[in-house]
Amino acid sequence: MSLIDIVRNFEGLSNFARFEMVCDYLERFDLGFEVQIYSSGRNVIVNSGSKKEIGVSSHFDAVPGSPGANDNATAVAVTLDILKRFNNDPLKNIGVRGLFFDEEEKGLVGSRAYVRAKGTEGLIGVYNMEMVGLGDKIALWSDDLLSEGLLIKTFECVCKQDMIPCFRFPDIRKILNNSGDHYSFNQAGIKDAFCITTISDEDIKVAAKYLSLPNSNLSLISRQAYSEAPLFSNYHKSSDNAEHLNEKSLKMVSNLIYNSIRKLDSELKI
Ligand SMILES: [Zn+2]
Repeated sequence: MSLIDIVRNFEGLSNFARFEMVCDYLERFDLGFEVQIYSSGRNVIVNSGSKKEIGVSSHFDAVPGSPGANDNATAVAVTLDILKRFNNDPLKNIGVRGLFFDEEEKGLVGSRAYVRAKGTEGLIGVYNMEMVGLGDKIALWSDDLLSEGLLIKTFECVCKQDMIPCFRFPDIRKILNNSGDHYSFNQAGIKDAFCITTISDEDIKVAAKYLSLPNSNLSLISRQAYSEAPLFSNYHKSSDNAEHLNEKSLKMVSNLIYNSIRKLDSELKI
């Protein structure tokens, strides 16, 4: 089954049905999982049993009125794919913790509840994903644009080897008071947690235009970037469906994260 088919199966479902779909796929892929129920929602966690783990995360909820294909069924499909691949061919030194968060769209509610209840012990860092179904280049959204963290450096190294352009950007969603789930981990002390998104040349042009402006009115700049960048053309709209997306972007991100974790596993001496 292709990854875009997984995206299509999530498209238009209620958030509860999306949660059930995550569990269905994990069962289908023979991956054991835990459901963390908290006051207003539920997260799904796949623990590896290893003492040291790299988190791979995505939120499965969508905003009301949006079918939630690129935001964020694409990231869920890639998370599932990565877990399946490591289940079939396990790592030697470290493990992968799969994290599927609820209620990201309500303000990182699921990931905050996870960090509060489960802590971050044993977690080396987190590869979080948002909107990975459109574009042949990579944007990394990070709280720390100068981070020398092992996960981010390894990911950039793998992109370079594969000749895939990869750029770091300031977290414009954070400027609008709405970051991604990696931010819950940053706040809990995991600095090497950041977000991966796919982008196109046109997105880069828009970003260059706005990021070159003085920082005096970042909020306005961000809003204008939202309205012009193709990345955001269906963002949180009823048109966020799989027909705008492509399998190639999904596979590219799955391979980049998979190969980064393989590299970390071979280099980390634990
Ligand atoms: Zn999202």
